[in-house]
Amino acid sequence: MTRHCTYCGKPFEPRPQVPDQAYCSAPACQRARKRQWQQAKLQSDPDYRINQRAAQQAWSQRNQDYWRSYRDARPDYAQINREQQRLRDQGRNVDLAKMDACDLPSGLYRITRHPAFPRENNGSWVVEITPICVTCPCKMDVSREDVIDTPAVCP
Ligand SMILES: [Zn+2]
Repeated sequence: MTRHCTYCGKPFEPRPQVPDQAYCSAPACQRARKRQWQQAKLQSDPDYRINQRAAQQAWSQRNQDYWRSYRDARPDYAQINREQQRLRDQGRNVDLAKMDACDLPSGLYRITRHPAFPRENNGSWVVEITPICVTCPCKMDVSREDVIDTPAVCP
């Protein structure tokens, strides 16, 4: 019996072993289904919420360690960073003050390569940083999926 996918709206045949199937098998729709499930779960299950938060914290912690050991393993990198900071501290106080004023608050952002500069070839990318609102489901794209999909999170 043909049904219409909740996410993409295309008709599909539910699998016999999943009679209530509401999403087709397209990867985007399966991701949407997972997000939906996670959101419902976050709302209905306090334990899950706590676990997710712990997993996220663990992930940040691991990331911190990663960058710390990255810097430790590459003294040049830390040296260059310090040098750059020193130059900034010395000569560009005005700019620094300006930067502080518009400093991005910590939060969720999406970084996309800017379409107007598709082929910058000097080793850097021009990117666009888009704040992601905290309440809409799109935040699952950047945070939850990272946490859930990272193999390191699984025991
Ligand atoms: Zn679909």
